[in-house]
Amino acid sequence: ARIVDARSDADDRQVEAALRPRRLDDFPGQTRVRDQLGLVLKAARRRGTPPDHVLLSGPPGLGKTTLAMIVASELEQPIRITSGPAIQHAGDLASILSSLAEGEVLFLDEIHRMSRAAEEMLYLAMEDFRVDVIIGKGPGATAIPLELPPFTVVGATTRAGLLPAPLRDRFGFTGHLDFYDPSDLVTILHRSARLLGLEADEDGIVEISVRSRGTPRIANRLLRRVRDWAQVHGEDRVTQSAARQALELFDVDERGLDRLDRAVLDALCRRFSGGPVGLSTLAVAVGEEPDTVETVAEPFLVREGFMVRTPRGRAASALAWEHLGLTPPLDAQG
Ligand code: ATP
Repeated sequence: ARIVDARSDADDRQVEAALRPRRLDDFPGQTRVRDQLGLVLKAARRRGTPPDHVLLSGPPGLGKTTLAMIVASELEQPIRITSGPAIQHAGDLASILSSLAEGEVLFLDEIHRMSRAAEEMLYLAMEDFRVDVIIGKGPGATAIPLELPPFTVVGATTRAGLLPAPLRDRFGFTGHLDFYDPSDLVTILHRSARLLGLEADEDGIVEISVRSRGTPRIANRLLRRVRDWAQVHGEDRVTQSAARQALELFDVDERGLDRLDRAVLDALCRRFSGGPVGLSTLAVAVGEEPDTVETVAEPFLVREGFMVRTPRGRAASALAWEHLGLTPPLDAQG
């Protein structure tokens, strides 16, 4: 497991619950989505009716689950949590839907991974607050319509494009979460440090924020490793030097690149003179599967401008050469 992987691991899941903000006012960053959602929820509360269904999209670790829980707490309603992969049969969904209380929030994580039959049942339920319960099997089966009390679906997806249009259209509010600025991560890290009972210097927090790849989950994870380092070294405080030494030990550099990211850039620059080079050739050079290079290292390297994808393959940018402390060949400089 990479320390800079934005997906959650068992260790994250243990502590994340304690670090989640509970109210919109406590949720730093994503100002646009936060303000829009705040308005939708406030208006619903005033009307005394459930709000439109909410779809949250964006990469892992940016706060979709956290926002779903905030929706429920702002509405002062209970929340039921499940996920697309857990609902493989329409019957699984029917039993959840038929047990929802009026106004309850149903959080569906990874909603793009639900089965087709469940998807169809869901969008009917979202629109008409009704499910057809099938009684019996084969030619004798009958569908009995069951009225549901109004409720709110909060769906989360890393791949909004994979949702079929009829389902996407049932969401009255869609918020897209983007990577955080380091300054928002600083606020998040100060808050997490406080909740973990840690003293932290501004320099130490800033040092962690710039290495966190714009992702609160990674920021919180790096903070915990810095805490470990500080405590083992008898410092008991997150200082800049503790942050630097701890993150060096875990191979996360000052721009958040880890060993694999740097190996990819190093191969591109040193072995292929900056490219362009085909994905599989590049993968062989770093001893990884092409799929790993493409899905694990490349998105971040491209987003941060270290690598470019061209029709002839992957190429290193000027920033990549600079980051590795190398001089690009003359023709690449021109
Ligand atoms: P996934 O797609 O993997 O389910 P997610 O987008 O649902 O990820 P969360 O589980 O909500 O992400 O957030 C991951 C961690 O980051 C949690 O510990 C949460 O507290 C923290 N976090 C996310 N966004 C914020 C924020 N704006 N402020 C403070 N903490 C945040």
